[in-house]
Amino acid sequence: MNQRIFLSPPHMGGTEIKYIKEAFDTNWIAPTGPNIKAFENDLCAYTGSSYAVALSSGTAAIHLALLVLGVGEGDFVLCQSLTFAASANPIVYVGATPVFIDSESLTWNICPNALEDAIQFYVRTGKKPKAIICVHLYGMPCRLNEISAICRRYGIAIIEDAAEALGSVYNGKQLGTFGDLGIFSFNGNKIITTSGGGALISNNKSYIEKALFLATQARDTAPHFQHSEIGYNYRMSNVCAGIGRGQMKVLGQRIIQRRANFNLYKNLLRKIPGINFQVESAGSLSNRWLTTIILHEDLGITPENVRLNLASQQIESRPLWKPMHLQPIFSNAPYFGSNVSKELYQTGLCLPSGSDLPQEKLLDICLLITGMVKK
Ligand SMILES: *Cc1c(COP(=O)(O)O)cnc(C)c1O
Repeated sequence: MNQRIFLSPPHMGGTEIKYIKEAFDTNWIAPTGPNIKAFENDLCAYTGSSYAVALSSGTAAIHLALLVLGVGEGDFVLCQSLTFAASANPIVYVGATPVFIDSESLTWNICPNALEDAIQFYVRTGKKPKAIICVHLYGMPCRLNEISAICRRYGIAIIEDAAEALGSVYNGKQLGTFGDLGIFSFNGNKIITTSGGGALISNNKSYIEKALFLATQARDTAPHFQHSEIGYNYRMSNVCAGIGRGQMKVLGQRIIQRRANFNLYKNLLRKIPGINFQVESAGSLSNRWLTTIILHEDLGITPENVRLNLASQQIESRPLWKPMHLQPIFSNAPYFGSNVSKELYQTGLCLPSGSDLPQEKLLDICLLITGMVKK
């Protein structure tokens, strides 16, 4: 019986257990302790960000980013439509309205033209959006030059959802450090994991101090648990942060392994006209968290055919994220763009991309796909 191949399984480096053991030996089994500070320092050193706060999830990080920017009831937040729901849900948590923006076909990320159309529309009606949430999908940097310029021109804050893009680079700088705030996720399927977790980074000290305050139940400085604001229980556990410390040691390797997966897939599949990949533009380096393909309609096979065929061989693949403006829960939300994200969704597939994926398996997957095309 074949061993099941997962899309993106956790991949430990070996030293994680040492930091977990340290937490146990010193009895720091709590959402406070030395692993947390050390993990935050590792993140700052790696990304070049001045400040970081380790949290219980990437979703919590986005929620706090919105709160520290003062986004609330009646505000509008522009958000990439082609993404995981966790990019958008926190906009609703704070009582604001998400406005979804289409993708452009090269990076599959937020389209600068549609973004500017949306901003101009809301500026005209006297409701300038408070923030934008741009996403670096599957590790691919979005068009940060253009997006930053637009946001600067209109004075709109940027939250970079780099949940999938830790270690990706744009113009020599780590993703997550371009926006006013950046977020990472360390969920079990991300490029590195703390089993579950996230982080918020920024060069603005007061943002990170405020986020830490809100993440730890918003306690005023008093011994008697006094509260002047609504807080949250969003801090990362010291045990999980230990896993994070170990994972940071292998992040560089993980990026090399994921990029090697991508290059092998590309070399084996690009012979088939009609299979396309996400493209790194000049100055961009993707961590290639997931290798994703587009199957052109002329090929005569759908992503769903391929997914089911792979599944019959115990191999997990997955459709692209279903765009938010097509989700039942957001069917009434405003949307700007044409149909780029919808078409990507309908023709795309995420292939197994684990950093420990055996090369023979990857070859099997490609053979299976090429075999389907010939028929
Ligand atoms: C995983 C992910 C998140 C959420 O992170 P969690 O740690 O799972 O809460 C947010 N945005 C994107 C694009 C993601 O892929």
